[in-house]
Amino acid sequence: MSDQQRITVRVPAKINISLAVGPLRADGFHELTTVFQAVDLYDVVTAERAEGIALAVQGPEATGLAADDTNLAWRAAALLAEAGQSRAGVALHVSKFIPVAAGLAGGSGDAAAALLACDRLWGLGTPMAELDALAARLGSDVTFALYGHTALGTGRGERLSPISTTSEFHWVLAVASRGLSTPSVYRELDRQRQATGVPADGAAPDRVVAALQAGDYTALADAMGNDLQPAALALAPELARTLEAGVSAGALGGMVAGSGPTCVFLAQDRATAQSIARDIQASGTCRFAVAVLGNVAGARPATLPADQ
Ligand code: ATP
Repeated sequence: MSDQQRITVRVPAKINISLAVGPLRADGFHELTTVFQAVDLYDVVTAERAEGIALAVQGPEATGLAADDTNLAWRAAALLAEAGQSRAGVALHVSKFIPVAAGLAGGSGDAAAALLACDRLWGLGTPMAELDALAARLGSDVTFALYGHTALGTGRGERLSPISTTSEFHWVLAVASRGLSTPSVYRELDRQRQATGVPADGAAPDRVVAALQAGDYTALADAMGNDLQPAALALAPELARTLEAGVSAGALGGMVAGSGPTCVFLAQDRATAQSIARDIQASGTCRFAVAVLGNVAGARPATLPADQ
């Protein structure tokens, strides 16, 4: 049993630099080959000792988010308690800075952060391989949120191999004024594929991995791609204007992030990313745009004194 009263974990959003969607599997999921990168837009999850499980959600991106047992942070705590046969309770507090239903895996990140925070709070010392298995049960992107940096994901995205790169990656996120449900975007992709009989083949993960390893931004901009983009654009056609705004503002390349509707743009350097973010924001084609740094670490605990 740990004697710590409170654990705080910070967890980054993710982008998919390449997202190749294979056929629909018998279990209802698609076979994916994706290149994930963690970016420095963080949610913060705090876990405190309590009886039973309780959850509070606040912060600039918390609007409309349920603070009950449907929340992924709650589900993560409940799953860990069951797996670790722990009767200890937790009061979770989630500060949302990652927009919800934006394709940035904020919910998965909160689940990863809650797993780590509760494991530390309850003094369980769960081996990483077991945390990985619990993460995969909670959602396809939860495992990546535990590790962060840059990785190739296969299966549902939960089987990871790290990609090493020494370069800095500067991105701009253009966040839309509404969310898109991930299952509805996959359904639209299936519908489009059935209607045309042509499998989407826009994404080129191998070329993205090579460009990342070489630190070659031009090759990366050329290779990045997302098989879900046509489906996201069909459901949210206004994103075409956001993409145009980013490219006109000087981005090396732009695309829909994951299942959208966030759009992500690659920039040459930090100053250019900031100027692109300002220009996209001024174009009025998104709710807000922000420059972020890629390849940051995943969920990480930081212990605070009990009175903070
Ligand atoms: P995905 O990770 O499925 O690609 P996403 O990145 O587009 O999704 P998220 O913000 O992770 O979007 O949330 C998807 C859905 O999960 C939301 O619509 C919300 O109802 C539910 N959800 C549950 N818990 C959370 C949470 N802690 N933060 C955000 N969403 C949550």
